[in-house]
Amino acid sequence: MRKSILIILVIVFVFLLSGITCNFEKKNVVNAEEIKRWIDYLASDAMRGRANGSPEMVKASVWLSEKFKEAGLKPLLPGSEYVQNYTFTSRQRTIDERNVIGVIEGTDPMLKNRYIIITAHFDHIGISKGNSADSIYNGADDNASGTSTLLGIAKTIKKSGLKPGRSLIFAAFSGEEIGMRGSRYFVANAPVLLENIDFDINFEMTGHSEYLGRNNYYMTGCKVSNLDNLIGEYNKKSNWKLIDTIAVANRLFYSSDNIAFSRIFTNDGISSGIPSGTFATTAMAEYIHSPRDEGSLFDYDNMAGLVQYFSNLIIWLSENKSEVKFTDPAFTRIN
Ligand SMILES: [Zn+2]
Repeated sequence: MRKSILIILVIVFVFLLSGITCNFEKKNVVNAEEIKRWIDYLASDAMRGRANGSPEMVKASVWLSEKFKEAGLKPLLPGSEYVQNYTFTSRQRTIDERNVIGVIEGTDPMLKNRYIIITAHFDHIGISKGNSADSIYNGADDNASGTSTLLGIAKTIKKSGLKPGRSLIFAAFSGEEIGMRGSRYFVANAPVLLENIDFDINFEMTGHSEYLGRNNYYMTGCKVSNLDNLIGEYNKKSNWKLIDTIAVANRLFYSSDNIAFSRIFTNDGISSGIPSGTFATTAMAEYIHSPRDEGSLFDYDNMAGLVQYFSNLIIWLSENKSEVKFTDPAFTRIN
């Protein structure tokens, strides 16, 4: 009798141990094939470059809303189906625009009313007027890649049952290519108090690995805040590396939606001093804003690894008690 109990205990122990090992070995909840399918859709010729004001930009936003729902995100604006509508008027033409915004609520009672916002723009620049053989600017790396990275992170966190400490807002913006209209609108009309947003993690150009090598990425705005130092702490136990010697990274800090969070836009009548950075694997290659920006040369395995790495990093950051703050005196926190 006692022997049989012992045998059962040993079996249970081995079973549990194999479960634990499986959990540790479980990698890339969202795999390369799935990410490729998303990019193939967003950057297909049928999407005609997802220009602002085009039916294809609206189509992309509807597709994203469906993906947010499938992933199990909640709309940030209740009853909104994830869509934040806005308009933009240029040369007497009013364009209907839309951001897509979901949330994963935090679980730490002390931190859940604080937010990390994860962002990427999904619009691009449409079709060129020239007569070249390929006139469609597919915008695969700029920025179907960042959009898919954001979506992959949201899906990974929900599917793995990871519980963030802080709440996580996932915001896919339109209007970036016409002056960061979507992110600026979000900041000027934020559904949560801006002072409760601790920092922004923005994604652009994450499809290629041949520029920096696999498992490497860079961040714009290193040393503007202590965010890069905090990430460096996490990276000590990771096989991913933040490359902080990219010459153009300082300039690119001002060239994407992250700046709507960090800069104080006095002309919008708002202060948006929130630390931020854009994360990318390509430092403005010559194919950006050309019809050659297509997904055929992407390293989808590297992308899947990046999605898994950032999912774990964001969970770690969401539980971290350290304050993310500006270190560059040119920038000031809003509270
Ligand atoms: Zn872009």
